[in-house]
Amino acid sequence: MLPIDGKVIGVIGIENDRGFQMADRPRFGPAGVPPSFKKLKASLTDVPRLLHEEGLDAFEYQAVRWGGEPKIKMEVAKQLEAEAKKNDVWLSLHGSYFINFGGAEEVVEASKKRLIACVKAADWMGAHIVVFHPAFYGKKTPREVFKNCLKAMKDVIEELRTLGINKVMLGPETMGKLSQFGSLEEILGLCENLEQTKPVIDWAHLHARDMGRFKKIEDFRKVLEEIEKRLGKEAVKNLHCHFTKVEFTEKGEKCHHTLEEEEYGPDFAMLAETIAEFKLKPVIISESPILDMDAIKMRETLKKIYNY
Ligand SMILES: [Zn+2]
Repeated sequence: MLPIDGKVIGVIGIENDRGFQMADRPRFGPAGVPPSFKKLKASLTDVPRLLHEEGLDAFEYQAVRWGGEPKIKMEVAKQLEAEAKKNDVWLSLHGSYFINFGGAEEVVEASKKRLIACVKAADWMGAHIVVFHPAFYGKKTPREVFKNCLKAMKDVIEELRTLGINKVMLGPETMGKLSQFGSLEEILGLCENLEQTKPVIDWAHLHARDMGRFKKIEDFRKVLEEIEKRLGKEAVKNLHCHFTKVEFTEKGEKCHHTLEEEEYGPDFAMLAETIAEFKLKPVIISESPILDMDAIKMRETLKKIYNY
């Protein structure tokens, strides 16, 4: 079926008018290699095929412990890209945890290098977005940290231009701990002011940060409406999301839980309702302790109510 709002590129995605690809339908996959694949001694390049066999169609490669250079060989990244295309798996990359644009000058400079290393590798493997945690507040005010993030990300984007990398988006993520920069407001504020940037909505983090904000469908709807109001229809239609159930304290996120654990939120069925209602095409990455198993569950939940 030909989508009406863009042209088809290979088997995956639709290109928008700024040259970025958007998912062609709701897609689901794990954050990192599932434990069962590791037991099979599968290599990284086997992952897309194994996900495809499970009925999944997205994968977030984890570069979370990287420093200033890519830790994957270009050749392996290219093989991963080929396998992902062959098996219709949408790739994203979770960037280094060692990024803090709120830190001292030398920390910010090292953080820029780390983010750029992640984007380079994402470009090699054809990953569409580099998800990252922008900053900690430390002793600074939220306003100061916002300005620091904006400045640092502008520098990174400029460097990406020089490198000719223009297909990979930067994805600042909504964060779950109150010590971390990354409220919905802050993340949307960055995206409003930057090219080549889109928000990564981690629903569990928003839930934890705002002390259990998702109690009914309306609570999800409000977030989607806010994104649409600030960033436009396309942004809300093509969200990159993380989902898991989460436990929190007064400081925010404590730990992740599986979908089966009813005492924790948020409830994926409610998000699924809004995805169907708004006819969205999000990429939803499962960060549940049982990664792919819960990605399959989420997909099934959505499929029941939304024939995409
Ligand atoms: Zn993250």
